[in-house]
Amino acid sequence: MDLGSAKLDWVAQRMSVINSLVEKYEKDQPLRGVKVAVSVHLEAKTGYLALSIAKLGADVSVTGSNPLSTQDEIVSELKRRGLRVNARRTHDLNVYKENLDTTLDFEPNVIVDDGADLTVTLHEKRKDLLKNVWGVCEETTTGVKRIKALENSGKLRVPAIAVNDAKTKHLFDNRYGTGQSVWDSIIRNTNMNIAEKIVVVSGYGWCGKGVAMRAKGLGARVIVTEIDAVKSLEAIMDGFNVMPMREAARIGDMFVTVTGNASVIREEHFKLMKDGAILTNAGHFNVEVSVADLERISTSKREVRPNITEYTVNGKRLYLIAEGRLVNLAAADGHPIEIMDLSFAVQLLSVMKIVRDHENMEPRMYPVPSEIDDEIAKTKLKLLGITIDSLTNEQRKYLQSW
Ligand code: NAD
Ligand code: SAH
Repeated sequence: MDLGSAKLDWVAQRMSVINSLVEKYEKDQPLRGVKVAVSVHLEAKTGYLALSIAKLGADVSVTGSNPLSTQDEIVSELKRRGLRVNARRTHDLNVYKENLDTTLDFEPNVIVDDGADLTVTLHEKRKDLLKNVWGVCEETTTGVKRIKALENSGKLRVPAIAVNDAKTKHLFDNRYGTGQSVWDSIIRNTNMNIAEKIVVVSGYGWCGKGVAMRAKGLGARVIVTEIDAVKSLEAIMDGFNVMPMREAARIGDMFVTVTGNASVIREEHFKLMKDGAILTNAGHFNVEVSVADLERISTSKREVRPNITEYTVNGKRLYLIAEGRLVNLAAADGHPIEIMDLSFAVQLLSVMKIVRDHENMEPRMYPVPSEIDDEIAKTKLKLLGITIDSLTNEQRKYLQSW
């Protein structure tokens, strides 16, 4: 069996919102002749998004958005199906960056980014290409924050759409997608039982809520660590224990960071941990669990299973999965298909919006228009065979009255 082709065919049957949108818009070829660069975790669902963008007429060039999340069989199959692809799974950050650069050589008009690496490279190193770019669609929380930081410093040169902030993206992807795929990865990599464990989730944002909820469903006792008072209260009301990492570090069996911040688990915490603790990150980059600290303070390091590194700290064995990079993507297949179908539907319609409206857009961050959320939710409900009520005239009047 050809694995790349089989994986793409499997997701193609299940990305039904994307399929409905392609069916609806294909005849008009709304992306005809537009050059679209895609920099998203390069596995089957992303491959299918790229192929769908091409079906609407675009010329597409694809790269990854994390050195470890590219699946090489998908790269080969996308090339076979006629796309330009510059990516490979690698431990070498320079190779990853070279691939970003080569992708920009294509002189894209629209960028579909995840984590803003391509957008930042464009603004830092490839300013000469900015004139060709009509806009960027950004997939994730940290990418949106990075682009807003560019905007706040007066350096953003192109319009950007905050795809992450669409309701049909973060309510499902960040919460239920991360909730399921983090445990899928931890389970498939460790083969351990989650019930009986004390799980520590750092960050109670959209991702953290999902990771904590699914850990509870699997029978774990869950502790949340936060720096935000309201989110901490929310976690307590949702039935979780809340405490500082200094306390949680002593008792946790498994740790998951989802904060978008750096050094959330660091030297002072590693030194307190129990023998056998499992360390994972599902937030941005490989800095939430401080791999640099682990490398510095450990007395030995070895690979004990694929994707699992054992560090000895103070005579205790700590197990880091996927080198501290996104556990669900660097050591598994990422979010489930039906979830990425929704997120990528937002991407597809946002690309179409940029192509349609870019001449009237300024170099700033734009929200996804509510009509896009509405179209996607209605399409998904229809595919699920679910109908809902609509307002009567009397109700509409009632809601507008004071
Ligand atoms: P969010 O802003 O909703 O939540 C982040 C939370 O972390 C906030 O509540 C914040 O107060 C908290 N936090 C910050 N610093 C902290 C610290 N030192 N200790 C404890 N908590 C801290 O963001 P989100 O949408 O939940 O995304 C979180 C991260 O996950 C981002 O980097 C995002 O890009 C990434 N993400 C990953 C996936 C994935 O597939 N793995 C999916 C979506 C988003
Ligand atoms: N480039 C950063 C960005 C964080 S990725 C990094 O590697 O650290 C987080 C994003 O990955 C989420 O917003 C989610 O939409 C996306 N994602 C999750 N599962 C995915 C999958 N199976 N395929 C493609 N993207 C996925």
